[in-house]
Amino acid sequence: MVEQVWRSRRVVLVPCSFQGHITPMLQLGTILHSKGFSITVVHTQFNSPNPSNNPEFRFQIIPDGLSNHVISSGNIVEIISFLNVNCEVPFRECLALMVNQQDPSDEIVCVIYDELMFFSESAANQLKLQSIILRTTSAATCISRLALLRLKTEGHIPLRDPIMQDPVPGLHPFRFMDLPISKFGIPENYLQLIINAYNTRTSSAVIWNTVDFLEQSLLPQIQQQCHVPIFPIGPLHKFAPASSSSLLMEDTNCITWLNSQAPNSVIYVSLGSLASMDRKELVEMAWGLANSMQPFIWVVRPGLINGSEEIDLLPEGFKEAVGGNCCIVKWAPQKEVLSHGAVGGFWSHCGWNSTLESISEGVPMICRPCFGDQRVNARYVSHVWRIGLQLENELERGEIEKAVRRLMVDKEGEQMRQRIKNLKEKVELCIREGGSTYNSLNNTLELIKSFWF
Ligand code: UDP
Repeated sequence: MVEQVWRSRRVVLVPCSFQGHITPMLQLGTILHSKGFSITVVHTQFNSPNPSNNPEFRFQIIPDGLSNHVISSGNIVEIISFLNVNCEVPFRECLALMVNQQDPSDEIVCVIYDELMFFSESAANQLKLQSIILRTTSAATCISRLALLRLKTEGHIPLRDPIMQDPVPGLHPFRFMDLPISKFGIPENYLQLIINAYNTRTSSAVIWNTVDFLEQSLLPQIQQQCHVPIFPIGPLHKFAPASSSSLLMEDTNCITWLNSQAPNSVIYVSLGSLASMDRKELVEMAWGLANSMQPFIWVVRPGLINGSEEIDLLPEGFKEAVGGNCCIVKWAPQKEVLSHGAVGGFWSHCGWNSTLESISEGVPMICRPCFGDQRVNARYVSHVWRIGLQLENELERGEIEKAVRRLMVDKEGEQMRQRIKNLKEKVELCIREGGSTYNSLNNTLELIKSFWF
């Protein structure tokens, strides 16, 4: 009977238009759908998800007004700022139409929006719909982004080179170089974005893709300053079945290749969907990996090299040198790769999804953050959880070779593997009945249910 009532309620999801944000939002949709809700995903033209990956959802596209010039600039802060201006009216109109035309047996009960798509809140509010915020980065990122606002008033910003190695006052364990700085530094519109992203406005709750024991002291600290409940319900991917949300086509040949490799022998190398490097770094990376003699999978996606969509940029003689010891793909089925028994290490840019996926599969990391929250996560991986080592200096083949061997062969790497396996077990407890994530998810469902009773 209860199930019958639940099946007649619809949740509208508004993901932010980047891979690392779309994926957790669709995973949340999958979880809510499995609990009886119908789902509509409202998304921009830019980076629109493939509806055929989730035939159980409805998809509604809204115009985003982004020019090719803005998109190709790669300036994420600018793109998000534009989206919040350009999408406000189209979203309001789209939501109003959905409400006006809705079947009474399939009524919209709330809007869940990515913290960066804050334009969604006013539309929900005007239509008297409740709204909830989804946060897709770590709690440590939230704390350190807010610290940027304080550092600005204290005169530390713009950051100066001589202090980059110094600890940030009042922000253990971060150094200035670990702060979540955008590719383009800390412009005013970035600080404004932080203010908007962490303002809960009239929204009823915050759903967070994190696990409480991983960030234990931080979540209560944030909750103290937040007037609505915070529900840490991560890692979301553990609840959602393996349906893909990739914007690029996954190359599954690497799984066949992995099947022929020894347990724990392969290092998986991927810098996610946005991080990039220059050609010289790519060459050093290629030879460092090759010289380590460790088998590896390397994701060389279009755009990995600054300003180039080419992927055929590997150094001459490299492919011959590595032979069958490596598998290069444009985009991998990452979760499947990380859960494969042959994978024993992950060279990662430390995006939050990748970090959670690595912890969930017990795979220790080499951290090479590029910008933003990746720096924060890398510091946590290497200095708080101690499940990885960070490559901090200029990329150089000898250093890379040593780092790969430290992680994959040396005792130090074995200790990190043991520690991350312990975290993996704790994550499994959290998602089981009675665990913290399981309970938080139930509380989230109770809250959404209260919106119509
Ligand atoms: N990913 C993937 N295949 C790849 C590289 C990445 O499926 O070859 C996925 C990965 O599993 C993760 C997401 O893309 O879920 C990247 O998100 P993350 O937060 O780690 O980094 P971002 O791309 O936002 O920098």
